[in-house]
Amino acid sequence: MGERKKDGFHMTPEEFRRHGRAVVDWIADYYERVESLPVLSRVEPGDIRDSLPTEPPTRGESFETILADLDRCILPGITHWQSPNFFAFFPSNSSGPSVLGELLSAGLGVQGMLWATSPACTELETHVLDWLVDMMGLPGKFRSDGIGGGVIQDTASGATLTALLTARERATGYRGNEKGLDGRLVAYASSQTHSSVEKAVRIAGLGRENLRDVEVDERFAMRPDALAARIREDRKEGKIPCFVCGTVGTTSSNAIDPLPKLGPLCREQDLWLHVDGAMSGTAALCPEFRHILDGLEFADSYCFNPHKWMFTNFDCDCFFVADRAALIRTLSVLPEYLRNQATESGAVIDYRDWGIPLGRRFRSLKLWFVIRHYGLEGLQHHVREHVRLAQDFASRVENAERFEIAAPAPLNLVCFRHVGGDEINERLLEQLNQSGKVYLTHTKLDDKFTLRLCVGQTHTEERHVLQAWKLIQETAATIEDGSEPEGSPTSRG
Ligand SMILES: *Cc1c(COP(=O)(O)O)cnc(C)c1O
Repeated sequence: MGERKKDGFHMTPEEFRRHGRAVVDWIADYYERVESLPVLSRVEPGDIRDSLPTEPPTRGESFETILADLDRCILPGITHWQSPNFFAFFPSNSSGPSVLGELLSAGLGVQGMLWATSPACTELETHVLDWLVDMMGLPGKFRSDGIGGGVIQDTASGATLTALLTARERATGYRGNEKGLDGRLVAYASSQTHSSVEKAVRIAGLGRENLRDVEVDERFAMRPDALAARIREDRKEGKIPCFVCGTVGTTSSNAIDPLPKLGPLCREQDLWLHVDGAMSGTAALCPEFRHILDGLEFADSYCFNPHKWMFTNFDCDCFFVADRAALIRTLSVLPEYLRNQATESGAVIDYRDWGIPLGRRFRSLKLWFVIRHYGLEGLQHHVREHVRLAQDFASRVENAERFEIAAPAPLNLVCFRHVGGDEINERLLEQLNQSGKVYLTHTKLDDKFTLRLCVGQTHTEERHVLQAWKLIQETAATIEDGSEPEGSPTSRG
């Protein structure tokens, strides 16, 4: 190995075939054993870099050596998001059809910035997003055959920024882009809204001071009366309210903002309503959960992440707008070198005008593979099953003497805590995660340390959730009986 080949240093198609099979085998083996690996990586900061050579190779290495180092140097530093015992944050799913679609996308190596740079890349994306509108019962205005349409963004963060930029331009008569801002535009989101909204407000130039953290009710959902009051105050002070982000399934507790109330208010006040359904939006595949999107007909834009709970590997956020002209007018810049006949004809979509980057990967391929492999029926089956398992977990928590539910659990996220106070819950979480058998994360609700268990990993089954609950109870019991009675000073960390 290592001798120079006639055509230079490239991997030949024959070699690619061989190594490619080895890689697919590696992934299949990984899926077979991932359940037995400690979910949360146990390395210390710097461990991974210490295992890597200081100098890059001058001479190319054999593929076998490289792949062996994946096991040796990289795997110890992996937190296994694809473990069925992963209950942390929100899931970041993958699946066989998705990985294979991704592989083909990499193989084709298409850069789909314009329709003309690969018509299939654009048209499959439009088509699959239209499918999703139908599959999820989303308002028809998000379909591309009217004046709206859908596009794949990298993340919900990117989608929210894109929505905010468009809202900003609509509110300034598209002058923000030309003249800059005068500090008067204001955006609104609940205090429970994902941090990506604050980031978007900063990037879009509104300024953090012009983002209002609207108060929530006892279910952690935005209070429409509080929003109305904030808007009124701002108008009185000469501010220009322009954007509201409502969330369907907040990251902290899965709270659902009341769109049927927020929507008419935004309409009346002429504010852009963006709805962020990053994880929970997937539930709308099942008619019985579609009520979470009641009021979405008032939204100017909507996004959800198939890369969270729809078995499609990162990155894949579906972003829908009711009026694509506003979006395109906000983001389109057409230099001479991108001019082409198809664009001039107006008959095609150029997705470069629908988001921040110019270049675009062929991301719809993996989504198409997923939808075709599972079918609507298959997707519904697994989403229902996850919700059922989470609900079952919630009722076990409810019936346990030493535990309590900390927030309503409408779908697949359960927020709960031991009744013994913050310290016991912090220790419980730490010990659970150290065990390697599960991975859970936490939040603060009503100022109390709260554990979150989200059932959404592709391969999570009933036994994994039951096992997790058993482990939670056992671990809590050992802490209760432990040498550090609650409330006493401890020497821990
Ligand atoms: C996860 C999450 C986000 C951020 O998702 P990215 O796609 O990683 O940007 C935004 N909003 C909500 C409600 C989320 O749960």
